[in-house]
Amino acid sequence: MEQKRIINVSNRLPVKLCRVADELILQQSEGGLATGLSSVFNNYCSQWIGWPGAVVVPEHQNSTTMELNERNLTPVYLSEEEIANFYEGFSNDTLWPLFHYFPSYSNYNEQYWRSYVAVNKKFADAVVNVARPGDMVWVHDYQLMLVPSMVRAMAPDITIGYFQHIPFPDYEIFRALPWKAELLKGLLGADIIGFQTKADVRHFLSTVRTVLSMTPNGNKELVMGGRKIVIEAFPISIDHKKFHDLAKEKATDEHVQKVKAMGDTKIMLSIDRLDYSKGILQRLQAYELFLKKHPEWRQKVTLVHLIVPSRDNVPNYKKLKEEMNRQISQINGTYSVFGWQPIQHFYQSFEPHMLAALYKIADVAIVTPLRDGMNLVSKEYVACNVDQNGVLLLSEAAGAAAELTDAILLNPNDTKDFANKIYEGLTMPAKEKKERMQRMQQVVAEADIFQWAERFNERMTETDNEKKRPQ
Ligand code: UDP
Repeated sequence: MEQKRIINVSNRLPVKLCRVADELILQQSEGGLATGLSSVFNNYCSQWIGWPGAVVVPEHQNSTTMELNERNLTPVYLSEEEIANFYEGFSNDTLWPLFHYFPSYSNYNEQYWRSYVAVNKKFADAVVNVARPGDMVWVHDYQLMLVPSMVRAMAPDITIGYFQHIPFPDYEIFRALPWKAELLKGLLGADIIGFQTKADVRHFLSTVRTVLSMTPNGNKELVMGGRKIVIEAFPISIDHKKFHDLAKEKATDEHVQKVKAMGDTKIMLSIDRLDYSKGILQRLQAYELFLKKHPEWRQKVTLVHLIVPSRDNVPNYKKLKEEMNRQISQINGTYSVFGWQPIQHFYQSFEPHMLAALYKIADVAIVTPLRDGMNLVSKEYVACNVDQNGVLLLSEAAGAAAELTDAILLNPNDTKDFANKIYEGLTMPAKEKKERMQRMQQVVAEADIFQWAERFNERMTETDNEKKRPQ
């Protein structure tokens, strides 16, 4: 298929600007989206538009733009006020909680909304400036839901794809938004709208039907002003080979030895960003119940509990952190003996070899969000568990549950069942563990991040070719 130029558009660039002394320097951006997309950028996209992660004063903007342009990156600069209202406000304080089924955490604030519209317009202007005739544009995620229709209004013939990395909620949740019709119309500027799961697709289509009275045709496509819009699930993944190889490196094994030196116990692992959607408190409750019900397992298992710091100056996150610390201290205080404590808690980031080491040796990984678009940690665990002796406990509310059906699936709110499944994971026979892990590795290796990008790009290209074909 003919290779077309693709412009990637996301809130963050894959690099971020950091001030060191008086100088601005470029560093790799952290976070799942930037890392995942970076793997595919060079193969598939020729330009990336996004915020460079820091406020740049106007007198430094020209030189910064030139430096970024050399790497095929185009910055969109945001002011402090825009970061507060568009990013921390409408994106993270309105859409994020609502789309993760926490409607009571969602703030509906007119000033946030106005800033969201203005910043989306900045991104759309940047796209139109960079785009050349024949280019395709790939917009990412919930911070930029208005960009597709804004670009369409300025460049009607351009082919636009949108992919949402977080869940699309049920209509009964989405309807709470005062700006629901505007957001949907924003997305409908795209020619192809991708979600993580079939459930997200279903929610989106039923919401469009209810809010905009638009009915999809038999192929789940919408038609708007004679233009066809494809709505489809494209479950995102990881660079399976990269993680699998990382797990076999010497530096990883050195970390494995360090972790083993902690004591001769089974290791259970959880890795999450501090976020109320991740089910952190529910998991601690289930672990506590497990220790209570199974005294024979005390001193025989350790939960390595890694929480990556995030937004902990925001009240809901600060409250979650305090409650998490309280529960950890309560469990460790109750069950510890000299030489063993049930939870080894880390509130920090680990470097890739250390992460791979933990994934490699964890007997059980507990990945149990209350709601998650996909969840890459679960797939990384599978890829790094090269000895095929680990068990994945996975929430049925993670997008990954649709693919990783050989995990032990559970409802994180069902504490009793959760505790039983921890026991089931720890006692699963070696043969069954191996068979399940083999099948999951096959799934992740086949549907990796490159296959994801290729599928999306192929669908965009097909749409583009179809539009350009003489009628
Ligand atoms: N991660 C990391 N450093 C850490 C712990 C985790 O870079 O110390 C990465 C992890 O490898 C994964 C990402 O953070 O790629 C988390 O992605 P996920 O989809 O699981 O959750 P998100 O945080 O995007 O909601």
